[in-house]
Amino acid sequence: MAETRRVYLDHAATTPVHPEVVKIMDYYMLEAFGNPSSIHSLGREARKGVEEAREQVAALMGATANEIVFTAGGTEADNLAIQGVAYGRRDVGNHIITSAIEHHAILHTCQHLEKEGYKVTYLPVDKHGMVDPDDVKKALTPQTILVTIMAANNEVGTIQPSAVIGRVVKEHGQAYYHMDAVQTYGNWPVNVNDLHVDLLTVSSHKIYGPKGVGALYLRKGVKLVPIVFGGSHERKRRAGTENVPGIVGFGKAAEIARETLDQRIAHNTALRDRLISGLLSPIDYAHLNGHPTQRLPNNVNISIEFVEGESMLLNLDMKGIAASSGSACTSGSLEPSHVLLAMGLPHELAHGSLRMTVGTDNNMEDMEHVIATLPDIVRRLRQMSPLYADKIKGHAAAPLTPAGEEHPHDV
Ligand SMILES: *Cc1c(COP(=O)(O)O)cnc(C)c1O
Repeated sequence: MAETRRVYLDHAATTPVHPEVVKIMDYYMLEAFGNPSSIHSLGREARKGVEEAREQVAALMGATANEIVFTAGGTEADNLAIQGVAYGRRDVGNHIITSAIEHHAILHTCQHLEKEGYKVTYLPVDKHGMVDPDDVKKALTPQTILVTIMAANNEVGTIQPSAVIGRVVKEHGQAYYHMDAVQTYGNWPVNVNDLHVDLLTVSSHKIYGPKGVGALYLRKGVKLVPIVFGGSHERKRRAGTENVPGIVGFGKAAEIARETLDQRIAHNTALRDRLISGLLSPIDYAHLNGHPTQRLPNNVNISIEFVEGESMLLNLDMKGIAASSGSACTSGSLEPSHVLLAMGLPHELAHGSLRMTVGTDNNMEDMEHVIATLPDIVRRLRQMSPLYADKIKGHAAAPLTPAGEEHPHDV
């Protein structure tokens, strides 16, 4: 039997680590392994590595190095931004504005603060997953201390009107503007000044760096209290011995992203557009989720009626294709994605969603493999769907031609 082709289409979940990143991390584990706080030369070399990485991470967002605080990932950076501002500005107000489609690192932190007496407004989105800057304006009150709205969504790829929202927030005066830019950074241009942000979250493992390291951009003068105590690391913003190999690897990944961003965008866009057109035309009752044009270059998210996302995932996996669905298996039951529901999708469509996120390690043949594989999987799964049988009965459009050999239970 021929070896199964491996196609990894889950880059929004995590990316492979770039070989140059692995190489430099290796050096900082085996050779320059000192503690950056140590005075001796091994310590000083580690410190130099961390500070170089700070420059590299800052450069990819148009910031300066001393505005970067390294954390143990995007989740911690989101927590530090929200809790740090909420606790640090308790005397100013107690109101936070966010959106219904944020990552759980944002939503669960806001929910935690609500239990402590903070008020949180969760702004709705339109059918494409877009926040209306006018809604932000209307929600701002004299009590608002923070507005946190993501740059682009991790499930459907919709790019928010972040710069417009930023201007609205700044016109209001006192609220800080935070942005979870984990999916955007390294995939799309991000500039902290153009976006008018005060705080911005990024993560290493979504841009071909290692897991467990991220950063929070903190504009000079922004007031924030730490959430981790134990030393004066990271200018007293985040205690703990620095994850030197991780930070240095993150820096290298950011540098590669900055040098190749235009190529990366062109490469991903071509693959994305081929995948979208190649899947939507042969599969009937299939819909693109997210914005048709304001979307991340690497994101494809489609809902296919009369099939379960999880079933498609398992079948794709057997064909060597790694994707993701809009349902999260929580405590044994399938919860449809809060993002798709906030966009107004009915439960059936949310359950039938499939997210495929491309990356630099993919090529056009990978896309053709998926386009040659998925329609057959959908056809087989639908043969078990009484709803689909009802739907196509008496329908003017001819049903899909069944494949030559049928194995309805071979799922
Ligand atoms: C992945 C992700 C995070 C979490 O980052 P980690 O480094 O995995 O903790 C936060 N927000 C968004 C939008 C993400 O995609």
